[in-house]
Amino acid sequence: MNQATNAFDVVVAGGGLSGLAVAEAILRRSPETRVLCLEARERTGGCIRTVKRDGFVMEAGPAGFLDKSGAMLRLAAALGIDDQLIQSDNRDPVRWVRRRGQLHQFPSSVGSFLRTDLLSARGKLRMLLEPLQPRHRGEETVDAFATRRLGWEAAQVLVDPIVSGIYAADATQVSLQASMPQLAALESSNRSLLSSFLRSTGKVNSLTSFREGCEQLIDKLRLRVIAAKGGSIRCNAPIERVLAPNGKGKGFSVCVGGIQPEVIRSRVFVSAAPAIAASRFFTSFDARIAWQLAQIRYASVAVISMGFHRTDVPHPLRGFGYLIPSCEDSPVLGVQWSSSIYPSHRAPSDTCQLRLFIGGACHPTAAREPEGDLAAIGAAELRRTLGVRAMPLACEIHRHIEAMPQYLPGHGQRVDDIERRLREIPGLFIGGNGLRGLGMDSLVHDAELQAAAVIRHLERSRQTLLAADPAVLSLRQAGA
Ligand SMILES: Cc1cc2nc3c(=O)[nH]c(=O)nc-3n(C[C@H](O)[C@H](O)[C@H](O)COP(=O)(O)OP(=O)(O)OC[C@H]3O[C@@H](n4cnc5c(N)ncnc54)[C@H](O)[C@@H]3O)c2cc1C
Repeated sequence: MNQATNAFDVVVAGGGLSGLAVAEAILRRSPETRVLCLEARERTGGCIRTVKRDGFVMEAGPAGFLDKSGAMLRLAAALGIDDQLIQSDNRDPVRWVRRRGQLHQFPSSVGSFLRTDLLSARGKLRMLLEPLQPRHRGEETVDAFATRRLGWEAAQVLVDPIVSGIYAADATQVSLQASMPQLAALESSNRSLLSSFLRSTGKVNSLTSFREGCEQLIDKLRLRVIAAKGGSIRCNAPIERVLAPNGKGKGFSVCVGGIQPEVIRSRVFVSAAPAIAASRFFTSFDARIAWQLAQIRYASVAVISMGFHRTDVPHPLRGFGYLIPSCEDSPVLGVQWSSSIYPSHRAPSDTCQLRLFIGGACHPTAAREPEGDLAAIGAAELRRTLGVRAMPLACEIHRHIEAMPQYLPGHGQRVDDIERRLREIPGLFIGGNGLRGLGMDSLVHDAELQAAAVIRHLERSRQTLLAADPAVLSLRQAGA
């Protein structure tokens, strides 16, 4: 391995959305700062990838975002691609749940709740008793919360499919407070989960995406980083170890493996890699941080995108798609009707695009199955539930191994502990989807905060250096 050949102000680990967003935000405010983003794989983007095939725009990972904080919209505007944003079609915002082979509309109003076949009369009555349930004060799993408030039937057929379909998670394992803080807040403010549920599903959260797919955002971020005076990105550059040769808080040595191993020096180190990967490269640097990061579990999920002639899919495809509760014991978590969500942007006319999610925490090995087996599982699901018998016009399969973080009970304390430790090590920052949220909007919001903290740190250390400079000292003493 070469001796230290390069020195940077900031090294960012990981070239996914988190890493690129933090690098771009630093460079936008301070273009001369020397920022290097190191990405282990041959391409940037991490989970985000868009494949264009035969006129279909197929998303391998996220297909859009919920605007919670405004951070994604601010980023799109800063990058000059806000004219590329597209909104989901919310005119008929139906969501479905597959139960015993049939699709049932997800209740979104009092009327549809009373009429739904998803729940027995007893299950509905139990839900109506929600206001009488005692409050709980500690942390609990999403399933424990939903069962306590709404009864086991509603927990299984209404809440579980949201958790497994959106977070690829096991509702009996993940923490309510860490994974769905908005639901935890309902209880602390004494509001009814049932009525908020009916109100919020009726209202529909609009999804936003990019005309050419989510990778359009990654392409623009990458171009902005490399166009800035101080910015650079290296792919095929896996970080193997992070060291502090001069003592913690006094700069970093970043050991990069791969085809061009080298040691890179940096004043600031920002980890935007998955917690699982960061725990490995921090092992020699700080055992406590490494141990805490290693406790954050990830689930794997495979995504199959298929394009069909519209006439080959007998279902009307109204709404967004359907979710499958874990009690159905299917490795398929849900099916999105991509071309209904973003009409005229994801499939050529007279065709449609369907996207299946397979695996997640409840089926930990399913996403690793060979592609042929995944395709067969997907085809069987579409045949059984939607009556699709034709071969797809286009098909793309992507696996995301250990990509979806699972925030288990104790996650909040773990993040607090990591943050306490970070305050003791100036110049070290940790972001990425393992800690404070996994949605695109949360990650970009977190990246904005990290970038501002990095700039403050660099500015403070520059002033400390200046103050220690004998020339500056003598000027000050002379009253200049
Ligand atoms: C299938 C799927 C669907 C999703 N759908 C949505 C959605 O619809 N809406 C939404 O908001 N969110 C969605 N998400 C979540 C969201 O996409 C992710 O949380 C987000 O993209 C993660 O970005 P990241 O940069 O933190 O991590 P990643 O995308 O995982 O990027 C981390 C990068 O770090 C690199 N890396 C790892 N180890 C090292 C190392 N040692 N050295 C250097 N680099 C390293 C990796 O190669 C990777 O490129 C989805 C996620 C998945 C998997």
